[in-house]
Amino acid sequence: MPMVEAEHLFRSFGTTPALRDASVAVAAGEILAVMGPSGSGKSTLLHCLSGIFVPDSGEIRYDGRRLDTLPEPARTALRRTAFGFVFQFGQLVPELTVADNIALPLLLNKVRRQQAYATAAGWLDRLELEGLGGRRTGELSGGQAQRVAIARALAIGPRVLFADEPTGSLDSVTGETVMRLLVGLAREEGVAVVLVTHDSRVAGYADRRVVVRDGRVFASHEVEAGR
Ligand code: ADP
Ligand code: MG
Repeated sequence: MPMVEAEHLFRSFGTTPALRDASVAVAAGEILAVMGPSGSGKSTLLHCLSGIFVPDSGEIRYDGRRLDTLPEPARTALRRTAFGFVFQFGQLVPELTVADNIALPLLLNKVRRQQAYATAAGWLDRLELEGLGGRRTGELSGGQAQRVAIARALAIGPRVLFADEPTGSLDSVTGETVMRLLVGLAREEGVAVVLVTHDSRVAGYADRRVVVRDGRVFASHEVEAGR
């Protein structure tokens, strides 16, 4: 059974269609790379799959249960406990320290303060950011900030990680560190990873690749065959 499954998603912004009959699924322990040109609907797809946006029509299931029809506050609660999201454009709180940013989702989940900060420190080590816990995130380089965003998304121990171009501002060595970490989480803990990327080397770590074109999802071999 897929961990997250979407069927026939439609989503428009005003008169601009972003998703037009998009269907996709990801299994536990699977890394799915989502590729495709700018403006094709990749971010909108991730926001719908993760319950941040409600689609105009279509169905989304998480672990076999409908997500798109789940009322608030249950939908937000599910998102906070089961999903990690790395946004394309930052979303760290610049006035807070690195450790505060990573601990924040844990504190929202009622994890005790000391444990939240210990968990945050552990993720800093795993992302090769040790010693940066006390910095304000506004002072970080782009690559450091992106790794903090990844640490924050992973700190809650999500069953699904959604990452919108997470290696965009990382150099190739750091990008490989991040991808090896994600492969380890998928293999050892069964985390499902849905990862938007333009980087074919990053996509090479994925188990499967799909391409979004004009709001629809194609298997990468369909596109290569000249659709
Ligand atoms: P991608 O991530 O592949 O670049 P997006 O999902 O961001 O594509 O966008 C798909 C389409 O939806 C584009 O035409 C974009 O301009 C439009 N769109 C996305 N988000 C918004 C928004 N918040 N308001 C208006 N239009 C949007
Ligand atoms: Mg995008």
